[in-house]
Amino acid sequence: MLKTHALSIASAGSPFEHTTIERRELRAHDVLIAIKFSGICHSDIHQAEGDWGGGIFPMVPGHEIAGIVTAVGSHVSVYSVGDRVGVGCLVDSCRMCEYCLSGEEQYCKRGAVYTYNALDYEGNPTYGGYSEQIVVDEEYVVRIPDTLGLDAAAPLLCAGITTYSPLKHWNAGSGMKVAIVGMGGLGHLGVQIAHAMGASVTVLSQGENKREEAFRFGADHYYATRNQTTFTELAGTFDLILNTVSANLDIDAYLSLLGVGGSLINVGLPAEPVAYHTFSILPRKSISGSSIGGIRETQEMLDFCAEHGIVPQIERIRADEVDQAWDRIKQGDVSYRFVIDMATLKQ
Ligand code: NAP
Ligand code: ZN
Ligand code: ZN
Repeated sequence: MLKTHALSIASAGSPFEHTTIERRELRAHDVLIAIKFSGICHSDIHQAEGDWGGGIFPMVPGHEIAGIVTAVGSHVSVYSVGDRVGVGCLVDSCRMCEYCLSGEEQYCKRGAVYTYNALDYEGNPTYGGYSEQIVVDEEYVVRIPDTLGLDAAAPLLCAGITTYSPLKHWNAGSGMKVAIVGMGGLGHLGVQIAHAMGASVTVLSQGENKREEAFRFGADHYYATRNQTTFTELAGTFDLILNTVSANLDIDAYLSLLGVGGSLINVGLPAEPVAYHTFSILPRKSISGSSIGGIRETQEMLDFCAEHGIVPQIERIRADEVDQAWDRIKQGDVSYRFVIDMATLKQ
């Protein structure tokens, strides 16, 4: 076993402690990664605070991992020591079901193994990226393009793929009117990606304070949802709405913004169930969800971001600032992703 420093939470809602965890010895197809940066996703907070129920503790969160390969198992073929790599939300899946075979491991029939707050197929708890090193099978590792800094690349491993996958699946592109609801970590990447795909992009944010930045990220239009005239003015406008909000919204109100046949895709995962009236979807409107993305698609998204100059706007923090950062995220005070510099963990 390989000992490594980490930040862990003892029980739901408790603060971080500096601790040591064990990573498995390298198997034939494993790579050992020195984690350089780890992004903070709102899902980390949901899970650590018990929003989704049943967390596994102690918990080491983190599924936006960027680092360098420092050792490889005997049969690793894709990666070498020194490679710049990333790990997202998945570290294993059955590799046999139709979804795994088509590169959509996130929908694995057996249930994919998540990077943390999960048990692997041997029954051992998984620990995430708020740590110095991680051991991952090379099939669940992606390559970070040279033009992307490791710190800025980290948020792409969850926030990037979670917005890229549905935008691509629902054909965001030229001639499509897309709204992004909530401009946080996911949303600010959704705006950039939808713009790069060629769609007309509208940001629906609570207030006016993010207007200038939305245009800088490529938005064509911006509306504050606290302003009720937004909902009358935009009624029937969009082909696609991507809801990235971590809290419950008035779903009927957002469905009213879709044109006939339009789709509302929820990627935000609030604790409480979502409710809507069937009347709201009668004009052939659809309501759906989307879960992260598969490994191949994550690589495709990274390459797409490198090609189009899409870069998360990050605030780098030290390992001892994570509790404060979580409080700030809960207050909506983040522009637009915190990324932990893992070199500060040992200090
Ligand atoms: P975040 O950075 O905190 O952004 C969430 C945004 O939602 C905020 O910036 C804010 O945007 C808006 N918002 C927050 N509270 C609101 C409220 N009460 N009413 C209206 N709008 C509100 O979070 P994130 O990391 O982007 O994650 C967003 C959600 O996606 C979380 O629930 C997370 O768990 C989920 N998620 C899902 C997947 C998946 O696979 N489906 C993957 C990753 C994350 P404005 O200031 O612009 O209004
Ligand atoms: Zn995430
Ligand atoms: Zn599978």
